[in-house]
Amino acid sequence: MSDPIHPSFESRCVHGGLQPDPTTGAILTPLYQSTTFVQPAVGQDRGYTYTRSKNPTVHALERNLGSLEEAPPAVTFATGMASITGLFLALLRAGDHVVVSDVVYGGTVRLLREVLRRFGVAASFVDAREPANVRDAIRPTTRLVLVETPANPTLKLTDVAAVAEIARAAGVPLAVDNTFLTPALQAPLDLGADVSVYSTTKYIEGHNATVGGALVSRDPALLEQFAFVQNAVGFAQAPFESWLTLRGIKTLPVRMLHHCRHAQRVAQWLAECPEVARVAYPGLESFEQFELARRQQRAGGGMIAFELHGGAEAGVRLMNRVELCSLAESLGAVETLITHPATMTHAEIPAAERERLGITDGLVRLSVGLEDPDDIIEDLRAALR
Ligand code: PLP
Repeated sequence: MSDPIHPSFESRCVHGGLQPDPTTGAILTPLYQSTTFVQPAVGQDRGYTYTRSKNPTVHALERNLGSLEEAPPAVTFATGMASITGLFLALLRAGDHVVVSDVVYGGTVRLLREVLRRFGVAASFVDAREPANVRDAIRPTTRLVLVETPANPTLKLTDVAAVAEIARAAGVPLAVDNTFLTPALQAPLDLGADVSVYSTTKYIEGHNATVGGALVSRDPALLEQFAFVQNAVGFAQAPFESWLTLRGIKTLPVRMLHHCRHAQRVAQWLAECPEVARVAYPGLESFEQFELARRQQRAGGGMIAFELHGGAEAGVRLMNRVELCSLAESLGAVETLITHPATMTHAEIPAAERERLGITDGLVRLSVGLEDPDDIIEDLRAALR
């Protein structure tokens, strides 16, 4: 469902699914901070009854998010984890199985192992760098394939088109967590995926002001199932968070452009830095899956992972010494954030498994913000000294 008036991505970010308020002309979607909506008569409503089910500001965000991927209105959730939970609850039941790429946000692993397992859902975590591993893991009970690319925190990639073909042949929907790149830099639905999954908390809202999530699909039956779960479970996004997210999306293309430029600069500097043992950034030619990145991404993105020669001790020292960069969980906003995945975002994964997946104790994750990249480099240089 492409927007006929504003077909380009940048225009859709500003206008997609939106219009000035018809009663006042307000150019921004009003914040409908209201629990309920008065009905003209029994059995009649104006399209809205109760905010958990549908709210005009939240619905505007859903139209806008859908338009970014030339899809019908998305289904939004209170957090990224709620959107992933909504995906699982919509598509899985006791006895079902899901195939997941082995490096994913730690919360996704925790949800599958510590919550959904109690409800009889099994998960296989596979190295999806090799698409055949996904095919080999599919069982007769598999009802969903979920991959995160680039993966949090190692930036390992999955070939979405190749895995989509495998999933399609098996009759299983493919969902892609596109949080790290956003629709500005990667189009999972065009590559053959059935669902794009987002933590809108990150680049989409982009200002460290909210938490939120969304599921985007061009399949009306899937969207209906997601919307049913959203309402039945009570996972809805709030109006004010939606309003802030709508405002963030207007500058998404501009922000992503600069996140990429700055991250490229910082990654190049890190790659030449004598203290640095290893840098992973999809925009560097030295990146293990550079060719795949070039094929399925528009640019490298704003995330870098690296390790210092001094291992965990040196990495922790660096993270404790930075001043412009902030030591914090999360990513994808205007402030540069530095994160220690082993103790922060991926702490719930057992140490031996983390090591096997490359989430070493010395791994440093950098979400490159919109400060002057020279200042970010200078901060890292001073902290390394
Ligand atoms: N997906 C990815 C790739 C993430 O990095 C995160 C959080 O860091 C999530 C999902 C979960 O999102 P939220 O924190 O908004 O629940």
